[in-house]
Amino acid sequence: MTEAMPFRNKNEAALLLINIRQLLTLQSSEAGPRRGRDLGNLGLIEDGAVLSVGGKIVSVGKTKDALGDSWIKSNRKKIREIDCSGKVGLPGFVDSHTHPAFTAPRLADFEQRIAGATYEQIAEAGGGIRSTVEGVRKATRSALAGHVLSALHKMLAQGTTTVEAKSGYGLNLDAELKSLEAIGDAARLWPGAVVPTLLGAHALPREYEGREDKYVRIVCEEMIPRAAKRKLARFVDVFCDRGAFSLASTEHVFLAAREHGLGVRAHLCQLSHCEIVPLVKYDPASLDHMDYVGDDDIAALAAQSAISPAHQTVATLVPAANHFLGLGRFPDARRLIDSGVPVALASDYNPGTSPTTSMPFVLSLACTHLKMTPAEAIAAATINGAHALRLADCKGSIEPGKDADLAIFDVADYREIPYWIAGNRCAAVIVAGAWQAALM
Ligand SMILES: [Zn+2]
Repeated sequence: MTEAMPFRNKNEAALLLINIRQLLTLQSSEAGPRRGRDLGNLGLIEDGAVLSVGGKIVSVGKTKDALGDSWIKSNRKKIREIDCSGKVGLPGFVDSHTHPAFTAPRLADFEQRIAGATYEQIAEAGGGIRSTVEGVRKATRSALAGHVLSALHKMLAQGTTTVEAKSGYGLNLDAELKSLEAIGDAARLWPGAVVPTLLGAHALPREYEGREDKYVRIVCEEMIPRAAKRKLARFVDVFCDRGAFSLASTEHVFLAAREHGLGVRAHLCQLSHCEIVPLVKYDPASLDHMDYVGDDDIAALAAQSAISPAHQTVATLVPAANHFLGLGRFPDARRLIDSGVPVALASDYNPGTSPTTSMPFVLSLACTHLKMTPAEAIAAATINGAHALRLADCKGSIEPGKDADLAIFDVADYREIPYWIAGNRCAAVIVAGAWQAALM
C-alpha cells in the first residue's frame, strides 16, 4: 500500500483510519475543477483506509491492503489507529464563501422579511449590511475575533476544515483592517485553514451615499495596498449588483487587487443580471451567487474552464441565502453543470441572508432545490471549493501528498449526508492528520 516512509522525527504522528465503509477520495485523473458529468465522480473506495504522516496523506486504499503493508506492520505500535466501521469518510468540506466578521444577528431584518419586506426594501429602510457595520466599527479586535472563532468551531463540528472568511462589515479603512486582523487572530487559534478576503466593496457606507467613486478610491488606494502589504488578505471581493457596486467600480477594484498581487472574486447576479463577460479577463477564482446568469455568461465561463487551472473561474452557488430570504428562485445549477461550468457550493455564512455554519445543510438544499445529485453536491463542496480558493494542490481530495483533512460521518451511505436535514451526523474531523473531535 505504501512505500517505506520513516518517521522524520519521533514527534511526527502517524494516523491510520481503517474499515471506512465508504471512503470518498474525490481523486480524479483530470486536472482542474470537476465539470459536467465528472462532477459526480466521488472516487469511492469501499472498506477504505487512509494513512497520514506528519499531517500529509501518504497512502489511500483498501483496509486489507493497508493492514498487509510491510511498513505499516512494522510501525503499527507507533501509529494511531482509528476504526471507522460503518461510517463514511470524505475530504473536509471547503467552505469557500463566508462572512464571519460580525457581532450580532439581524433579528429585526428577519422579522421584517417574515412580514413581507424584500432584501432591497430592508436595506433601503436602514437594515441590511449597513446595520451590521455599526456593531463591527464599535467592536474591539479581540471581541470580533471571538465571534469569528466561535463560527469556525461550529463549522468544524459539521465537517468543514477549510474556510474562506471575508471582511466587509467595517466599510472604512480601520474597521476593514481590524476585521481582517480578527479573522487572522481567530485563524491562528483554529486547527483548520482560513483564507482571508478583503470585501471593502460590500456596500456603500452611509457617509459616502451618492459618492461611489470616492469610496471605491479608498478601497483601491488605501484598503487594498494596506491589506496586501501586511498580508492580511489573499483575495479581494466585490459585491457587484443592482443597488451594490457597478461593473466599472468592480473593474477598478480588480485592477487594484491585481496590481498588489491579490486574487479576485465577486458576488454577482444575486439580485439582477450583471455583465460577467468583461470580468472574466481578470481570472477571478470564483464568481458567486449567479442566480441571474445569461447564455453568454455561461459560454464565457465554460470556455474559461478549458484553459489552465491558474485561470479557471468557479461558479460558487450559495442556496442557503435563497432559502433564508424565502425566495422561490434558486440558481440554475443544472444549466451551469451541464454546460461545463465548474460549480462549487458554499454556506455564505452571514447575519443577514444565511446564518448557517452547516455545509451538510447546504448540500441538502443543493439536492432539493438545485437538483444536484448527492455526489455532485459533495464534489462541489470539497474539491471544487478548493479550486474556488486556488488551493486544490493541497485541499479538497484524499490523495497522497495533500493535507490530511477529513470528515467522518456517522452514516452508512454518503447520500445520507444531504438526506438527514437539520441534524449533525459528523462524528469526527481530522485536520492535518490530527484527530479533532472524538464523538465516535
Ligand atoms: Zn456573500
